[in-house]
Amino acid sequence: MKTILVLIACAFCGFVIANRRIDWSYTFQQVTSIAVSDEIGGETQGKGEKRSGRKSRSHTEDAKAEQNVWSIYTMGEYDAANVDAAQRTIHRVFTFGTRVKGHHRLPPVCVRASNDLDGDQCLNELRKDDEQCIFITNQMIYTEELSVRGLTKLNGNVILLKNNPRFDKVLIHEMGHVLGLRHCENLACVMAIHNDAEGTEKFCEQCIRMVPEGALRNRTASTLPASEVQASSNDVELDDLN
Ligand SMILES: [Zn+2]
Ligand SMILES: [Zn+2]
Repeated sequence: MKTILVLIACAFCGFVIANRRIDWSYTFQQVTSIAVSDEIGGETQGKGEKRSGRKSRSHTEDAKAEQNVWSIYTMGEYDAANVDAAQRTIHRVFTFGTRVKGHHRLPPVCVRASNDLDGDQCLNELRKDDEQCIFITNQMIYTEELSVRGLTKLNGNVILLKNNPRFDKVLIHEMGHVLGLRHCENLACVMAIHNDAEGTEKFCEQCIRMVPEGALRNRTASTLPASEVQASSNDVELDDLN
């Protein structure tokens, strides 16, 4: 299959938009929609075996349930505070669960000179068929010779995150890619390529329409424009990260 590199962009995250065929077993989009169907008691997908309530969960169901939980690992040199931050951000913005899995061995093939990480090698080496994983590190992550703060693949199930001042925003951005979103031209949108000075943690209305139903904890609070959002006193002011 011919691979066409459409864009290499995003100084923000280094996400590579590539017109590649995704061959991973489960995409997040599929799994999320199944979970939502079960939750609201609506149409089930597949054979409806769960609705009978008589059978124990099948291996397939167990695997799908696992896909709504993100495993969080540290890797190489790391800051433990980022683990808490990742959990908080996911629980605050998304409906997914998290599971802290501890420290992961850094595959030697992923390490470049000066202890930097080859992000693309990491994504390949760290990928697990039955687990969605976030790997957090303090070490520099490179892709295509670009230093990046986060890296994942469209509809992927591995996210690399480097400790950085906008850790939460990068995580939401990478989650957007995992959920099937590409970069956005709206500079205020969390999916913007250069979402730094201008950007928020929120998805623009165009992007949010592409987020799978049920993935966001509060769709309204996650959507631009910010003027429509009622920020509670306990919330971080999302528009004031700079
Ligand atoms: Zn990106
Ligand atoms: Zn957008």
